[in-house]
Amino acid sequence: MLKVAKFGGSSLAGAEQFKKVKAIVEADPARMCVVVSAAGKRYKKDNKITDLLYLTHAHINYGVSYEDIFSMIEERYYGIRDELGLKCDLESEFQKLRGELNQDISVDYLVSRGEYLTAKLMSEYLGYAFLDAADCVVFSYDGQIDYEKTYANIAARAEMAPRFVMPGFYGALPNGRIKVMTRGGSDITGAIVANALDADIYENWTDVSGILMADPKVVENPKPIKYITYQELRELSYMGASVLHEESILPVKEKNIPLNIRNTNRPQDAGTMILETIDEKLVQNKRLITGIAGRRSFTVLTIYKKHISTDTSIIRETLEMLETCKVEVEHITLGVDSFNVVMPTAQVQDRIYDIISDIKRKLKPDRIKMDDNIALIASVGRRMVSVPGSSAKLFGALGAQNINIRMIAQGSEEISIIVGVHNKDFERTIRTLYDGFMNKEGGNEA
Ligand code: ASP
Repeated sequence: MLKVAKFGGSSLAGAEQFKKVKAIVEADPARMCVVVSAAGKRYKKDNKITDLLYLTHAHINYGVSYEDIFSMIEERYYGIRDELGLKCDLESEFQKLRGELNQDISVDYLVSRGEYLTAKLMSEYLGYAFLDAADCVVFSYDGQIDYEKTYANIAARAEMAPRFVMPGFYGALPNGRIKVMTRGGSDITGAIVANALDADIYENWTDVSGILMADPKVVENPKPIKYITYQELRELSYMGASVLHEESILPVKEKNIPLNIRNTNRPQDAGTMILETIDEKLVQNKRLITGIAGRRSFTVLTIYKKHISTDTSIIRETLEMLETCKVEVEHITLGVDSFNVVMPTAQVQDRIYDIISDIKRKLKPDRIKMDDNIALIASVGRRMVSVPGSSAKLFGALGAQNINIRMIAQGSEEISIIVGVHNKDFERTIRTLYDGFMNKEGGNEA
């Protein structure tokens, strides 16, 4: 059994968090490979080391003193080392780095030191080998990760050092220059290590006990989801639930490696298990809906033209016009004599009247209607495909609360039902769906 455990910034923010990480790793000998982010926030108003490093670089660029910021970074690392009684020679590390700061240091290299130093400390603390991501994670010159080379490097090195700590978030170009991923990229590194070593599980340790069934800013104390498929997660993330770095899913999904989101501060919680396919025998509560997510402020254009369903050229031409204006189309629904296009208001608000007059002039529709202030709310659940009456139940719950549904769409593979409501009904709709489908169906299992 081999587990890859990735710890996010909040799990590494200070010595106390390091102690929790050690206890977690030591509790299970299968946790052989550890991937770390840079130290994050200890409390709400604290700074993430990565942000401070970016700020240091900006100060260098503008020729302003970076001393105060850089010493905050040094103090954080010295504090962790000294409190844990470690020996890591941070003095030399910082001396070297300070020398480089005055010599045109690249932003990627500087920022990657957050993960690098966190991993150095953690490897000593756990007694695991330190495996530098610069020697394993390969970027090609087009900026993309070369997965095949990276997998081979990690597999080869893990043979020599099966228990290791690797810094997340960065790798190196073929010429050895450090390159960082997009923010939150340590999730990707963890997934890559899991793929390279055919891990039995990829654990992603953070500060929440898994993915919640709804946004806690809208629903009080939403329950965590126990099991979710990658596809369900994708639908939820697309509709606004942010959990994992999108790209981090691919390397584990490809090999059907379960991804478990866990809470470093509550290791007793099982967290959320994300799988390609779920053995429903494992799931106690066969809830119809796995999670709810939504986004506000969409604009809906309804374009009327007789017999649109037999002559669809006007749809193609409208989409082409929107594409030229670089407007994202979220949904299209088609009726006999009309169709709807749903777009984010922020993208069209300054030019919607130009777009409408262009459509009128070029495509000569019978009529155009515009609605804005529309919120889209997705109820996502893999079981809905096979349960008759799912949508009736959902619409019934909203009807009983007098919530006016302005549009309906179904997501891919019938695993989500999306309703459009007025922005002002956004929170009420989510709460109604949550109360109707999550609370009443009871239990803690998803
Ligand atoms: N430390 C980086 C960031 O703050 C990467 C990560 O945490 O995954 O984005």
